[in-house]
Amino acid sequence: MKKKELTPLVGDEVEVTIVQVEAGEGMLEEVHQRHNELIRPPVANVDQLLVVFAHQRPVPNFVLLDRILLMAESQHLPAIICFNKVDLKSLEEDEKLMEAYRHAGYQVVHVSAATGEGLPSLKLLLQGKTTALAGNSGVGKSTLINSLFPGFSLETGKLSTRVHRGKHTTRHSELFQINEATWLMDTPGFSTLKVDYLEDDEVRHYFREIEMRQEKCRFTSCLHLEEPGCYIKEAVTAGDIHPNRYQNYRQIVDEIRQNRRY
Ligand code: GDP
Ligand code: ZN
Repeated sequence: MKKKELTPLVGDEVEVTIVQVEAGEGMLEEVHQRHNELIRPPVANVDQLLVVFAHQRPVPNFVLLDRILLMAESQHLPAIICFNKVDLKSLEEDEKLMEAYRHAGYQVVHVSAATGEGLPSLKLLLQGKTTALAGNSGVGKSTLINSLFPGFSLETGKLSTRVHRGKHTTRHSELFQINEATWLMDTPGFSTLKVDYLEDDEVRHYFREIEMRQEKCRFTSCLHLEEPGCYIKEAVTAGDIHPNRYQNYRQIVDEIRQNRRY
């Protein structure tokens, strides 16, 4: 693997030669071609990403959400946005922004791991897929898994001990089989996500509501910053694109340019 400069990832499909069955020894011979590969968390062959945030406690970090969505979009990985703790009342301006993601074409679910609200429809979205979980600690990921698949944690014991560990943070990603075709990847929580894997003119393709409108700008090269005849800026003014999303877009483009400069 080292010779090929290949690091096996959680989620990889591999060829193994059994060395000693009793000792559980084997040799990793080959890593199959990956369908996709995520940077943060470093996992492979995921069908979709479940991005979990809370309505309250903690208040949703939309800057982080946009960075996670950007990463998923650039990997052509479908993302489901899950706002947990819907039993707690969220801010009205946050509600509007949550709605903006649905408007942009994302699948958005509002659930409560505590009361069970919204869980059946979320469960349907996970069935038969390999789903990586993302979101910072405290948003209720562990409670959610336990509420969604109560039988599962009893059966294996493994996930249940892990998720009951309380405040300890997961340091690496783990793959769990829920049933024959359903897998969950639990990944370490993170609170920041640098965008150092894209050029400044690539970002626009991965903000869905920008990508779907940008042919209407006067210039095809429009980065929707200060160019004349920019349709995206008009759409923000008209309330068709949420100003927060546009602001986060600009911030990311700025950040990439700053990093290139030094
Ligand atoms: P994780 O760090 O993302 O795994 O979050 P936890 O599952 O440990 O949950 C963090 C806290 O939020 C715990 O005190 C949970 O009881 C609480 N919590 C989780 N889901 C809900 C919910 O739907 N509603 C409310 N009110 N609290 C929740
Ligand atoms: Zn433009």
